[in-house]
Amino acid sequence: MQQEVIIVGGGMVGLSLALMLAKSNIAVKLLEAIQYPNYDDANLAPYHSSFDARNSALSRRSVQIYQELGLWDALQEHATPILEVQITEQGSFGKARLLAEQEKVESFGQVIENAWLGRVLLTEVRKQPLIELIDGVQVTSLKQDTDFAYIEAVRGQEQLQLAAKLLIAADGRDSFCRKALGIGASEHDYDQVAIVTTVQTSKPHAHVGFERFSHLGPLALLPLPGEYRRSVVWPVPKGTEHEWMGDENDQHFLNALQQAYGDRAGKFEKTGRRFSFPLSQVLAEKQAVGRVVLMGNAAHTIHPVAGQGFNLCMRDAYVLLRYLTEQAAQSADLGDAAMLRDYEQSRLKDQQRVIKFCDSVVRGFSNQNPILKFMRNTGLVAFDTIPGIKPLVANYAMGLKA
Ligand SMILES: Cc1cc2nc3c(=O)[nH]c(=O)nc-3n(C[C@H](O)[C@H](O)[C@H](O)COP(=O)(O)OP(=O)(O)OC[C@H]3O[C@@H](n4cnc5c(N)ncnc54)[C@H](O)[C@@H]3O)c2cc1C
Repeated sequence: MQQEVIIVGGGMVGLSLALMLAKSNIAVKLLEAIQYPNYDDANLAPYHSSFDARNSALSRRSVQIYQELGLWDALQEHATPILEVQITEQGSFGKARLLAEQEKVESFGQVIENAWLGRVLLTEVRKQPLIELIDGVQVTSLKQDTDFAYIEAVRGQEQLQLAAKLLIAADGRDSFCRKALGIGASEHDYDQVAIVTTVQTSKPHAHVGFERFSHLGPLALLPLPGEYRRSVVWPVPKGTEHEWMGDENDQHFLNALQQAYGDRAGKFEKTGRRFSFPLSQVLAEKQAVGRVVLMGNAAHTIHPVAGQGFNLCMRDAYVLLRYLTEQAAQSADLGDAAMLRDYEQSRLKDQQRVIKFCDSVVRGFSNQNPILKFMRNTGLVAFDTIPGIKPLVANYAMGLKA
């Protein structure tokens, strides 16, 4: 009999992994707390906690994975390539520039609207005969013994009881499953809130992505489909977010962006509604326990400073897929504890490198001490001029070197 896998959490990671498994002939039950929208209407961006108003910078590796899944043609309808990256600090002379052409790559990655990514993933999941999608259901209990993982869940008045050889917990930063198994997590609150929106500028974006270390926090401005549309992710100190929210603060927000960027992007002409996301780092102490493996934000939630979080999750998911297809080919237990621990070990190096990098960029650039500022600038100049550094960094950022 074919073994079935349960995935708890149908965010961007749970949906992507369900598709990877189903397309490799592994049957999945996918449980999601939120009742998904119907996409019969023309509404592109219904709210969902995972695919909301944000945009994601997908690395080249993530794009490759979606190409393998046969989804890229649909995804790229609302994606745009990054051909150049500029890193600067407000009030400083240093500047680092990475050009796709120089690095001999077609692009560094693609920026996609999460709402579109979610819509394409969900539409595909609904077509897959090997995926049983159960939405609007809250998992309330998780236990396991040597043979199975068992969950209980509620959907309205209905109680569900399910068992599987393997349970994948992709239930987000505050993962119920992680807590139910008693897996601890180290948490660091950055005391920052990311302000996220879409803006229109007078200069075309020309596919340039900016990372600017502003006085308030590291500000990312990324190209979006449409020549003049750009995505903004601006982490600001917690408690100051109310200054930027609400229609009445549109002009105030545009002025602040203008001040932080100067005229690099031309005039900041229009802004969409702003959304805010509290930022913290949450790292699970273990990612594989018995027949349960943690994935996505449930395993590691990191600061969005370099747009690496989801890309890292996609690489995890892809490696787990390789372990599981090998087990399936031998009709071996998909929830084998030793195999899951091997998977976990195999991912630690890539995970730790990304986690450390993002954390040290946030901490390193938030200190306004003039000596540190000078060192950062010399670092940016060195990065821009010393041969050999750029290809290395570019390969890491594109997810091509783990
Ligand atoms: C501002 C911001 C910008 C970002 N930009 C980028 C970027 O450019 N590039 C990049 O690579 N990454 C980026 N990230 C990171 C990326 O958004 C996350 O890595 C990604 O959303 C993680 O998805 P997930 O599916 O693991 O978790 P989630 O999106 O949190 O999904 C978890 C799902 O589980 C469900 N769930 C929870 N509990 C239960 C339960 N008990 N029962 C059933 N279902 C449950 C939830 O409803 C939810 O749908 C950014 C993050 C932020 C905050």
